[in-house]
Amino acid sequence: MLKTLFTSGGGGVVILGAAVLLTVAIYGAMRLVALSLRYPPLGARVRLRADPIPPEWAAIVERNVVLARRLPPADRERLLRLVQVFLDEEPMEGCNGLELTEEIRVTIAAQASLLLLKLRYPRYPRLKRILVYPGTFVPHRLEAPAPTGAIYQAPVPELGEAWGSGTVVLSWPSSLSGGRNRSDAHNVVLHEFAHELDQENGVADGVPILEPPSSYRVWGYVMGQHFTRHRQLVEQAAEKLDPYGATNRAEFFAVVTEAFFEQPHELLREAPEVYEELRKFYNQDPAGG
Ligand SMILES: [Zn+2]
Repeated sequence: MLKTLFTSGGGGVVILGAAVLLTVAIYGAMRLVALSLRYPPLGARVRLRADPIPPEWAAIVERNVVLARRLPPADRERLLRLVQVFLDEEPMEGCNGLELTEEIRVTIAAQASLLLLKLRYPRYPRLKRILVYPGTFVPHRLEAPAPTGAIYQAPVPELGEAWGSGTVVLSWPSSLSGGRNRSDAHNVVLHEFAHELDQENGVADGVPILEPPSSYRVWGYVMGQHFTRHRQLVEQAAEKLDPYGATNRAEFFAVVTEAFFEQPHELLREAPEVYEELRKFYNQDPAGG
């Protein structure tokens, strides 16, 4: 077909054909670049720095991120290296007059990096910024009525949020108390950054990017079954997990992530299949180590 196009139509057709080919090639290249940004090559690695880590960081993590205390020394070192990458790459802003200190930055970065600790690509590629408030905040997006006329609930103060656009919003007091209490299964930083992992493929559906691709079948079955069971138990007021997980599958994933890290033995006992899926995904075994 191309040969006919080039030879039978004269110079104008040849130029037109070349222009079409060039356009297709440019579009294809742009798509490839976009896809590679969203899905880095499987072999991609994050380059960790080798320069000295500020000595106060280990003390901040020790004091404020108690989940890190269970980590062996090599993993603690890796966590601090991931904190370096995180703080290099992810803009963090203080809001409502909050001045970001090293303690705030490291405490939030270390909790967010805990989820990444054993991932093959330990990074949040869609994250654009983190907004930190000096207390609870009212989400601005709820303040204006929708142009479609949809009815919104009245804005309520929140501890944290993860927008699909790549913004994570956190209350500093809640981030700190969540980090210091290791066993209540409430950790707003783990919760919101679990949403970030979930949204890495562009959809907040409780299904992060899994490897190998065959994992999706088991994940879908196990999480679907347990989400249904969770909703039933919440209705009966008999659920031990945070009932907020019954909101939808994305919240269920965030809630079981909190439980996986903060109450791993309980989760393993109550829902061993869910624990196993999370163990494979995060490549960590907090109940075993
Ligand atoms: Zn949530």
